[in-house]
Amino acid sequence: METMEMLWSYMQEDMKADRLNNALKNSPLRQKLEKTREYVLDQQKNYKQIEEQVAVDTDRKDALQDAIARAKEQLEALTARYNENPPADADETRELIKEVEKCSRTLYSYEMELRRIQKSAGDAVTRSTAIRNNTAKAKREFDEMKEEYTAMTEDKKKEYAVLRKNADAKAEGIPAELLVVYNTVKKQISPPMARLVGNQCSGCNTSQPSAALRKIDAGNEIVECETCGRILIR
Ligand SMILES: [Zn+2]
Repeated sequence: METMEMLWSYMQEDMKADRLNNALKNSPLRQKLEKTREYVLDQQKNYKQIEEQVAVDTDRKDALQDAIARAKEQLEALTARYNENPPADADETRELIKEVEKCSRTLYSYEMELRRIQKSAGDAVTRSTAIRNNTAKAKREFDEMKEEYTAMTEDKKKEYAVLRKNADAKAEGIPAELLVVYNTVKKQISPPMARLVGNQCSGCNTSQPSAALRKIDAGNEIVECETCGRILIR
């Protein structure tokens, strides 16, 4: 059947165009490009988080410094009171000691917290510097890769257009309904056609029933392999 041979030679060109298109889509450069982009976005997110934490810490640090100053004033006031007006008895002494201890404990806990915040501020600077450097490096790599990829895509896209045009030329004269079947099968399996070798489908090596073989030889209808679904041709 002449039309089937035309479809077969159309398939050769169609597959060439498809292969190039797939290679483009799955190119390692494109995948690396996408990974680098994700990395940059991730780092930017981390950087923002650190900045937010630094802002919170700065506010807290100011509040702590105020609180520490107040606690120190309180301690000084207690000392002054002790000097000017010493406790008259054991009870008053105990009360004063209690107050001093409470005030000292508060002061100590504020100072500890302040130290923790100062340390975490130092860590934040180290981390954000590292992030800034890594992000800048990744961005440079990304830009270079993107340029390379764009150049490569441009060439490949032109190449693809040529291959597609070749395929379209081969499609001329093939009945539209046959191309519809071809494209439907191609969605399931590619390449969508297979030669018979003896009585076997060369796509999946399954022997075809004699009824199917007779139909193929008669050439009046499209016969698909019962196993893999490819359009069969002698
Ligand atoms: Zn098959």
